[in-house]
Amino acid sequence: MRLDKCIADHSAYSRKEVKELLRRGSVRVNGAPEQDPGRQVDPEGDEIMLAGVILPTALHRTYMLNKPKGCISSTRTGKTKTVVEFLPPELRKGIFPAGRLDVDTEGMLLLTNDGDLAHRILSPRRHIPKYYLVQLAKPVVEKTVETFENGVVLEDGTRCLPARVAALPGVENTALVELHEGKFHQVKRMFAAVENHVEQLLRVQMGGLPIDVKLGKGDYLLLLHKDIERLF
Ligand code: URA
Repeated sequence: MRLDKCIADHSAYSRKEVKELLRRGSVRVNGAPEQDPGRQVDPEGDEIMLAGVILPTALHRTYMLNKPKGCISSTRTGKTKTVVEFLPPELRKGIFPAGRLDVDTEGMLLLTNDGDLAHRILSPRRHIPKYYLVQLAKPVVEKTVETFENGVVLEDGTRCLPARVAALPGVENTALVELHEGKFHQVKRMFAAVENHVEQLLRVQMGGLPIDVKLGKGDYLLLLHKDIERLF
């Protein structure tokens, strides 16, 4: 593919603006300055840098978002901001959340345009463990730990898979929870079933991939293959 087309397809710049950027020497291909708009590039293999920033040209892209409260895990635009809207418009095309967090839940959410990857992340057969930091109304007692290990029975009679919960030492009424499934409002309903109440919920890890602590609320980063592999 021509370099000018590749940049225009993956940025907010028109073909004409891209030519100007090339002329001004703002483009590098695989680290070397490039001014030829007709240079052939491979969007999957070549690294194209525009004004010092790597252009995400690969067909499949997956981002880690540090979801704040107040936005919905959906692609449907309306009154409430969606998680996809944290990406700039030029990066949003085809992107959807791989899973969901409640509107008042914060933390790690993956956004992708890779349907196969989303399927692997969400497949109940794979059981990617998910880890949540929970602020509760009351302390976690020994009985809660046992009930979670044996499988909590929710108010509608559904039995959950065994899960782990551990109180965080030194921080009042907080716990770390490890889940191997993703039922609707699961963490909240599990604590409701043991007569406790979730006040704040934050997803901190999926599989072996923890949230990047450098991400502020609403910030995102492009995941590399090696990050994605840590999920499974
Ligand atoms: N469990 C919940 O109750 N809510 C979430 O957003 C995620 C897990």
